[in-house]
Amino acid sequence: MNVREIPCRDLKKVLQKPWVDISRRPWISGDTAYVPVREGYPYTQALPERRRKGRGYQKIGSIIAFHGEKPDEEVISEIINRHNPETVIWYRGHRGVMRIPDINVLYGEISDTIHKESGILYHLNPAAVMFSQGNMEEKRRVAGLVKPGERICDMFAGIGYFTLPMAKAGGFVHAMEINPDAVYYLQKNIRANNLTSQIIVSPGDCRDHITGIYDRIHMGYYDAKQFLPVALQHVRSGTIIHVHGIGYNTREIREHLMTKGVTAALTHRVIKKIGPGKVHTVTDVVIT
Ligand code: SAM
Repeated sequence: MNVREIPCRDLKKVLQKPWVDISRRPWISGDTAYVPVREGYPYTQALPERRRKGRGYQKIGSIIAFHGEKPDEEVISEIINRHNPETVIWYRGHRGVMRIPDINVLYGEISDTIHKESGILYHLNPAAVMFSQGNMEEKRRVAGLVKPGERICDMFAGIGYFTLPMAKAGGFVHAMEINPDAVYYLQKNIRANNLTSQIIVSPGDCRDHITGIYDRIHMGYYDAKQFLPVALQHVRSGTIIHVHGIGYNTREIREHLMTKGVTAALTHRVIKKIGPGKVHTVTDVVIT
């Protein structure tokens, strides 16, 4: 596939250009988009056709991480030639409440890496904590909604995937996280992005740490709706709650609101595909 590389932030503008082959999907890696070019137009790189059925791969710092089906030797060496990564891993899945990655190292050694996305540095070790590149647009969207000075609760902070962009947008974030490994990287990332004055970290179960009234509550966890009864005790009229989940879950969200006698306006959106017939969604709940 013939492509031109452009910064991700320019992707939306470029897609209207005559040289773009709209029949193919641009390939995103970090902050770079590889945009397919139509026959007869100049291009800068010819990417070999990807023969894999799997969900493809993503670049996390200096590490290439495959999802879906395990890549064969030929695909691995092609990727090594193209990206010259330090390590190549294959995500078999994520386990348990803490979403601990189940990985297989296919090349090199696994170690900490630094991933840069939308101007934010994320230190992490992909063998210890998850990293989903598919949430990039949603991180930008939510950060774009934050009003400077907001008091925000991030109930499932991880390594700061959403905590950091919301703080960078001017919010004061109370970040909670139950996985000690994720807390270690979260605190490292807060320092690395000079956000120590805007983020407080509460290691442990969010239900034990949520306190006071928040302008915004971020619930980035597929089972978030189970935690709504707790979150709804910390809202006022105008508070916005971002409830992540799998599929269409507004009925259950409405039931929790009804039980608490809270009224709200709901907006539901799909973030990304996570498997055959399965989508990662978020419902914005604006308390009235
Ligand atoms: N919010 C981030 C995002 O959307 O990318 C992280 C998502 S990750 C799937 C969910 C995180 O919530 C994991 O790091 C897990 O350890 C943490 N977690 C799960 N149950 C928790 C709880 N009861 N209290 C605090 N953190 C929890």
